[in-house]
Amino acid sequence: MTEQMIRSELSASTGFSDNRLNRRADLRDNPQAVAALAKRPDALTVLLAGDVPVLLRPGAANISPGTAARDWQVARPTPQGELLGAWFDLATAAAIAPARDQIFLGEDEAGAPRFGTAIDKMLAETLKDDPRFQVIDLRSIAFQKLLPTSDLGPLGEAKAMLDWHSRHRFCAQCGGATAAGSSGWKRECPSCTAQHFPRTDPVVIMLVVRGDKCLLARQARFVAGSYSCIAGFVEPGETFENAVRRETWEEAGLRCGKVRYLACQPWPFPSSLMIGCIAESLDDTITLDKTELEDGRWFSREETVSMIERRHEGQLVTPPGLAIANTLMRAWAYDGALP
Ligand SMILES: [Zn+2]
Repeated sequence: MTEQMIRSELSASTGFSDNRLNRRADLRDNPQAVAALAKRPDALTVLLAGDVPVLLRPGAANISPGTAARDWQVARPTPQGELLGAWFDLATAAAIAPARDQIFLGEDEAGAPRFGTAIDKMLAETLKDDPRFQVIDLRSIAFQKLLPTSDLGPLGEAKAMLDWHSRHRFCAQCGGATAAGSSGWKRECPSCTAQHFPRTDPVVIMLVVRGDKCLLARQARFVAGSYSCIAGFVEPGETFENAVRRETWEEAGLRCGKVRYLACQPWPFPSSLMIGCIAESLDDTITLDKTELEDGRWFSREETVSMIERRHEGQLVTPPGLAIANTLMRAWAYDGALP
C-alpha cells in the first residue's frame, strides 16, 4: 500500500484520519525496548490534561534546551497567525507534571519514537494561565485547524486511548483495580487475570437519498443553520447496513433499500468510528423523531451544493470539511455517488 493510494481513499479527506505512525505493535510487549525508546533524544509525546490537549507555543519561551528549536519545525502558523506544536520531548512533559498514564504510539516516518501522555485533568485549568501553552479541547483544535492533519490523527488516537485508561481503572469482571500492560494497549486485572482491551464504538452515519434529493437534519445543539446527515450507534447483532436502515426508520420514518459504504472516520469523542454510508430511501414522506431531531427535510442537489459552498440564500450550511458528513454530501452532490 503506497502513501499515494492511502491519500486517494475517500476516508483520507476526513478529520483524524491522517495518521502516519508506524504503530510497532511488535514492541508493545517488550517493556525494556519501549523504555529504551523513551530515553532516546528524538522521542516525543503529545500531552493531555485529562482529555484536554496541551499545545506548546514554541515562540513563548524555551522550555528546555533543544525543545524549542525542534518544535518550531513541527508547528505551523494557525489561521490566527500563531505557532502551535503538539509534540513535547519526554523530559519536558515529565517536568510539567507526573504522567498519570503513558502509551507507546509507535514511530514517526523518520523512525522517531512517539508517545501519548496524560497528566491530571485538574492541571488543564492551571496550565491555561501559563503563556507557554495553549490548553484547548480537541474538537476546537480540529475545527479551527490549529495543527497539521498529520498531528491531528495521532493526537486523536492518544486522546481516545488515554480517555479509555482513565475510565477503566477497575475490572469489569471482578471489580478489582487494573493496571496498564502492553505499553498502554491493554489493562490487566491481577485479582482475576482478566485482560481488557481498548474499545472502538461503531457509529453509522448516512446520507439518505431519493432521486435528486437528500435527507438532512439538525439537532438542537448544532450551530444555527447547520444541517447534517443522520447517525446512530450500531447495536449488537447488526450489520452496518441494517443499522443504517433501522436508524433511518427510527429517526426519519423512512424505509431504506440499498445501502453502500463510502468512507469512515476515527472520531475520538470519546472513541467512535464513524462508518459513512449512502442509502436509498423507498419513501417520500419524512416522519421525524422530534426527541432526537429539531428539524429535517429533503434538500435538492443544488441546495446541498449551495450549503457546502457557503452561498445558501437562507444561510443554511453543512458541517465543515473535516466532518465525514461533508465528505458524504460531496461524494453525492459533486461526484454522483449512488447507493
Ligand atoms: Zn478482575
